[in-house]
Amino acid sequence: MPALDLVDLRSDTLTVPDAGMRAAMATAEVGDDVWGEDPTVRRLEQEMARLLGKEAAVFVPSGTMGNLACVAAQTRPGDEVIADAEAHLVAYEVGGTAIVAGVQLRALDCVDGIPDAGSIDAAVRDPDIHQPVTTLLSIENTHNRRGGAAIDAARIGAAAHAAHNRGLRVHCDGARLFNAAVALGVAPAELVVECDTVTVCVSKGLGAPVGSVVSGDTGTIESVRRWRKRLGGGMRQAGVIAAAGLYALEHNVARLAEDHANARVIADELDGCPGVTLRRPAVATNIVRFDTLAPAAELAARMSEQNVLVSTMGPHTLRCVTHLNVSAGGAQRAAGVVARVLST
Ligand SMILES: *Cc1c(COP(=O)(O)O)cnc(C)c1O
Repeated sequence: MPALDLVDLRSDTLTVPDAGMRAAMATAEVGDDVWGEDPTVRRLEQEMARLLGKEAAVFVPSGTMGNLACVAAQTRPGDEVIADAEAHLVAYEVGGTAIVAGVQLRALDCVDGIPDAGSIDAAVRDPDIHQPVTTLLSIENTHNRRGGAAIDAARIGAAAHAAHNRGLRVHCDGARLFNAAVALGVAPAELVVECDTVTVCVSKGLGAPVGSVVSGDTGTIESVRRWRKRLGGGMRQAGVIAAAGLYALEHNVARLAEDHANARVIADELDGCPGVTLRRPAVATNIVRFDTLAPAAELAARMSEQNVLVSTMGPHTLRCVTHLNVSAGGAQRAAGVVARVLST
């Protein structure tokens, strides 16, 4: 029997650059970006700022560095930052904000991914010499650990308004902001109007090999740029990778809808499986997250025997992520394999 094609649903970070993207990288005009002389990096920064309706942007090596630089630029050591308990900033960034920015995270449990105005208001500390000063709200869109939920402009507006009213700044970890915009059918700028800073990864579903872009007002971006240098993230002829990001923005945004449709095929197939609790957000994107009765690692191993790779997110939690290297046929086959393994 011929080997079945591999369907790799572990993450949308696994995408590899296609021929067109590689050609754009190979022919990119470059210079020393730390000196502000890389025209391709500048174009990527300007294009992202334009798409998000912001004054300025800065290209950073990773989403983690982007988030960290944004937190550091908008807080002082000893401050407190409010975020959802399941946020990437809380769960997956190795405590960087504590070590580097010297802030403490106040984690709120927000089942649908974003705190409402009342819980933000309640979480902001009173002026009191015993308490840390709350200076930043960080939100995530789409929300990875909340099942890839796309968060709409109304809920972001309500949260941001509550934060701003209490004098906080607002950061959006928009690693997959374009997934949210496509799923909600709105311009990405609409989702970040109320956010002071935004990190977007071009290295996830957009398909570029490396990089994220932080956008915001000119003064804050200047400070983020200084933090990038301090963190060792100043890159020289980075136009070679920025070209991939520009190519991704031009070619790989609208097609995210295909990833969402493919994820829906998998979610629909899982919905009726015995012992499976699907986390289905109001607006889903390219992530399917579900809890299982059987140990997740065992199930993932059985799926991988049939060339379908999924990731474990906990002892009884699995995640499937669709992306541009997963075809509709591949998603269909994976849905069948996943459902069969879960049903036997
Ligand atoms: C991937 C991701 C990041 C971090 O990006 P890296 O480039 O992997 O450092 C931040 N936030 C979310 C929600 C992510 O999914």
